[in-house]
Amino acid sequence: LYIAPDITPPAKPTGLGAAAGDATVSLDWADNTEEDLAGYNVYRSTTSGSGYTKLNSSLLTDSNYTDNSVTNNTTYYYVVTAADTNANESDYSSEVSAYPSAGSASVTIQENTTGFCGVDGAVESEYSGWTGAGYANTTNASGKGINYSINILTAGTYTFTWRYANASSDRPANLIINGSTVVSGISFPGTGAWSTWNTVSSGSVTLTEGVKTIRLQATSSGGLGNIDYMNVAGENLMTAS
Ligand code: CA
Ligand code: CA
Repeated sequence: LYIAPDITPPAKPTGLGAAAGDATVSLDWADNTEEDLAGYNVYRSTTSGSGYTKLNSSLLTDSNYTDNSVTNNTTYYYVVTAADTNANESDYSSEVSAYPSAGSASVTIQENTTGFCGVDGAVESEYSGWTGAGYANTTNASGKGINYSINILTAGTYTFTWRYANASSDRPANLIINGSTVVSGISFPGTGAWSTWNTVSSGSVTLTEGVKTIRLQATSSGGLGNIDYMNVAGENLMTAS
């Protein structure tokens, strides 16, 4: 009796996804279903489509992998293969890329944390509903504001959002970046009570790379509403001191 050797490789894995973090990349893909599946290999390159090096020393039995041998601010390209018990290896999966970085796509700056550089007034906690350590309450006067600092790691489009309470009428403000007014007259309409909180956003702001001083400055005699936090969301950034 002659049994033909198994020369049929498994199907190439599907559903590969990558999530980048600070000096780490997490990969996950769909399980292969071949009965003689032995495991998976993960390959990486810094060039799209070529130059892959295998990262695992023995076959992976689970359909996921964490790569902690990456350097921040570098783009990596990954593919995975499946292998069977006769050492037949599939074609490469579709490629995914990842850009590990110390930054993130969104930061929220609370009072008295990194990125919060001061308020023309005080940090208070009298009215309920705040998050973090309280809220920033400016003196009630035009020109009063709050200062922040962020480090833009990837140039691009960012949106600033503030959580605030305002029992008064609208207390508009300007968004000032590195000393220049970038968005003027942002409306902070009344929320009905000092303990009722709402959010307001700047709309899209285009920013270059680097550390930016951010100031939210009141343009009416009431000063700012009470500001719970500022969130900045976009490409890749971190708070700065
Ligand atoms: Ca005030
Ligand atoms: Ca807060």
